Amino acid sequence: MNNSSIQMCDLRGQYLKIKPEIDAAIQQVIDSTAFIKGKEVGDFQDELARYLGVKHVIGCANGTDALQVALMALGLKPGDEVITPDFTFIATVEVVVLLGLTPILVDVDPFTFTIDTKKLEEAITPKTKAIIPVHLFGQCANMGEIMRIAQIHNLYVVEDAAQALGASYYHSDGHVSKAGTIGHIGATSFFPSKNLGCYGDGGALFTNDDSLAAEIRSITNHGMRVRYHHDRIGVNSRLDTVQAAILRVKLKYLDSYNEARMAAAQLYDTRLKVCANLVIPSRATWSNHIFHQYTLRVNEANREELSKFLAGKGIPSMVYYPIPLHSQKAFEAYRLQNSNSTFPVSNSLSTSVLSIPMHTELDVDTINFITESILSFFK
Ligand SMILES: *Cc1c(COP(=O)(O)O)cnc(C)c1O
Repeated sequence: MNNSSIQMCDLRGQYLKIKPEIDAAIQQVIDSTAFIKGKEVGDFQDELARYLGVKHVIGCANGTDALQVALMALGLKPGDEVITPDFTFIATVEVVVLLGLTPILVDVDPFTFTIDTKKLEEAITPKTKAIIPVHLFGQCANMGEIMRIAQIHNLYVVEDAAQALGASYYHSDGHVSKAGTIGHIGATSFFPSKNLGCYGDGGALFTNDDSLAAEIRSITNHGMRVRYHHDRIGVNSRLDTVQAAILRVKLKYLDSYNEARMAAAQLYDTRLKVCANLVIPSRATWSNHIFHQYTLRVNEANREELSKFLAGKGIPSMVYYPIPLHSQKAFEAYRLQNSNSTFPVSNSLSTSVLSIPMHTELDVDTINFITESILSFFK
């Protein structure tokens, strides 16, 4: 094992295992020169729809666009309130603000880091129109509770499944859904490091609703249903044919990729749970966890030092996310609506979380080296 090669996410190792298939898929698109809206795009959308058990999958340019297009398709108007978790990647809230909608941030649950459904219910006002739960780090938010609340208050639900493609949600009646297929619309990203990543930018929307699907298709293509007849303002957001061709290959491996992540997490758990200075990731009862990130909680006083100690041994680590959304400079103007004291959990997480290497190519020796290094820091 070469310690200097430990990475947060090993895309090269993953590629080398399927290189002939990927290279052939890319070459085929180049030979066809159908770079935009080529056959691979439709084929991938059909295959992903079948995998997810959802009626419509519509590709787009990236996960941020997927969220924006979803909110556009719902016909929300300036001033409408959209509830999102405070502890997530900025994209989720960025699009709300860009569309002139009002973001209402809600604290997260300390165990799953997903939106706190009790605080969510308290945040609802007559202006609330939609909720965007985020399935953070590979585990679903409490969708049963979220859908129940949404139904009572007549709200749309847009699932941000950018970090959880392929995760399973277990409904209380026993049936199982894939992340992103439970709300009115699901949005995902194929950013290279995501659980299903392409070789550039890509994203998709999911829905079981035919009229929302038609609206989404139109919006991603300049508001057009019939060529050069523009029914509404849309955007230019498409999944490139080359990316779709790559994703068709990688979709076949998605379950085995997620299983590799889960196996690595299981080993991390076993080795690290003995350490009183660490909190290992919690598992929700309602979802499996496909570990987009493996995120520990450590004492605030130790985090920086531990990260430096690991870096000295060639082990990278990352803080997702160091600043809760309500404290981001970009949202200063919105801070008035939210007092800092409303977010004890996301404030505490931002000072204590540390993500360690998690990808599909981690072997037992590397995991042992990483966990022994972590344990030796606390000795
Ligand atoms: C990655 C990510 C996005 C945005 O996806 P892009 O493809 O990078 O635009 C949105 N939400 C979450 C939670 C993400 O992790």
